[in-house]
Amino acid sequence: MRIGIISDIHGNFTALEAVLHALGTVDQLWCLGDLVGYGGQPNECVECIRERTTHVLRGNHDLAALGLLTTEEFNATAAAAAQWTGEQLTQENRAFLEFLPEMKVEMQRYTLAHGTPRDPIWEYLLNGMQAIENLHLIDTPMCFVGHSHVPLYFNEKGQGGIAGDGKTVSHQTLKFERIIANPGSVGQPRDQNPLAAYLVLDTFPMKLTWHRVAYDIAEAQGHILRAGLPAVLANRLAYGK
Ligand code: ZN
Repeated sequence: MRIGIISDIHGNFTALEAVLHALGTVDQLWCLGDLVGYGGQPNECVECIRERTTHVLRGNHDLAALGLLTTEEFNATAAAAAQWTGEQLTQENRAFLEFLPEMKVEMQRYTLAHGTPRDPIWEYLLNGMQAIENLHLIDTPMCFVGHSHVPLYFNEKGQGGIAGDGKTVSHQTLKFERIIANPGSVGQPRDQNPLAAYLVLDTFPMKLTWHRVAYDIAEAQGHILRAGLPAVLANRLAYGK
């Protein structure tokens, strides 16, 4: 089985289309949350995800746009984007986001969480110690998380790090190591690389491969600026941070 894993689309439909095109045919598509927030095309993203994915989680920005999470911990631009997104979402798309889980286990093998198993909404997993602690909390051999917008992986010894374009974790490794992995962000990468990120999980033989794909950043920026959202949200797409 070939499974596409994506996360943190953030209303960037231009990037989402480029990722889905590059990904090609998959047996399943999993989305680890934050479909909206920051970008100028939230409804297009939710509708596409509704149609294409087999498993979807909700993230902190989805909850904030629905008014189900306070934006006190958000910076001013994120809060403004959450407010605007909430006003744009159609009734159907709101209802879809509202009933998504924050964490789930698939095929008894894969734990999916937006943040981490320990805190599916707020924890940013960025180091090996956090990976060790979180892998202790779950039983599955693999765990996929989003939220940090940084493509990476760690094993249960805390070894690993950032996963660049083309990085693979092989069948041999996955046979012996439990892994926690982040596909990176489709719509707002933060690893100094502006290209949209996604991850492919092949299940036989088991293999993980990280990918990056170019998209029309100027188009995505245009949607943000025309929506009247803060310009910094458009500018950062060019730098990947
Ligand atoms: Zn996010």
